[in-house]
Amino acid sequence: MLIDTHCHLFKQDYSNVEEVINHMNKNIMIVSADNLKTSYEVCKLIAKYDNVYGTIGIHPTELDEYKIDNLNEIESMILTKGIVGIGEIGLDYHYENTDKDLQKEVFISQLDLARKYKLPVVIHSRDAFNDTLEILKNYTDLKIDLHCYGYSLEAAKQFLKINPNIRFGIGGVLTFKNSRVIKEVVSELDLKYFVLETDSPYLSPEPYRGKQNEPYNVIYVAKYMAELKETSLDEIAKITSENAIKLFDLNMKK
Ligand SMILES: [Zn+2]
Repeated sequence: MLIDTHCHLFKQDYSNVEEVINHMNKNIMIVSADNLKTSYEVCKLIAKYDNVYGTIGIHPTELDEYKIDNLNEIESMILTKGIVGIGEIGLDYHYENTDKDLQKEVFISQLDLARKYKLPVVIHSRDAFNDTLEILKNYTDLKIDLHCYGYSLEAAKQFLKINPNIRFGIGGVLTFKNSRVIKEVVSELDLKYFVLETDSPYLSPEPYRGKQNEPYNVIYVAKYMAELKETSLDEIAKITSENAIKLFDLNMKK
C-alpha cells in the first residue's frame, strides 16, 4: 500500500476526479484544501470515498479575499469524519508585494486551531525558513508535515531539533535531475522522517515531469526513494505508510 499524503483533486484541474481516484485502486490519498471553497470540496470527497482523507485550511497565497470569519467556517468543518488535519497552511514569501504580516497572522490562527482540536498540520513554506522555524518553536506539541520539503539538510536538522515530530513530505521533485538538495536530505536522514506525496496536479515526477500529476504517480517517487536509500520498493511503501498513518492518526475507514 502507498499513501499520497498531499494532493489537490479538484474540479478546477481535473475533468474527471473520480477516474483519478479510482486509478489509485485501494491506495490512500489525503486531499489538501487551499481555501474555503476547496475545503468544502474536500468534505464532499471524503464522504464519497473510503480511501480518501482530507485536510482543510487556507493557503498563504490564497489570502486576497480573506476575512476573519473564514476561520470560523473552517472550524465548523473540522469534525467532519475523515478530516485528519489542518492544511495546507503556512508562509510563502516567494512573490513580491506579499503581505507577510497577514500571512503570519492567518498561519498562527490555524496552528491554534490545530492545537485546539489536537490535529496535525500540513505546512507549505517557501522562501520563509526563518519565520517558519520561529513560529513553529511555539508549537512543539503539534505533529507536522512540512509538505514538498525544499530547504536544506541543515534546515531539516534545525526543524527536528525544535520538534522531533516534524515529518518531511517528499514528492516528484526528488526525481528531478537537478534536485541535489532534496536528494541529500533523503539520503542522510532516517526513513522514519519521511512521508510520500505528489502535490497533484503539480510537480509530476519523472518520467512524467511537466505533465499533469495524479496520486497514482506516487509510486515513481517511492521507486526513486528506494534506489536512493538502497532498499526495496516494498520497504519504502511499508515505512512511509506507517509514518503517514501515525502522523495523521489514520483510522482506516475500511
Ligand atoms: Zn499542495
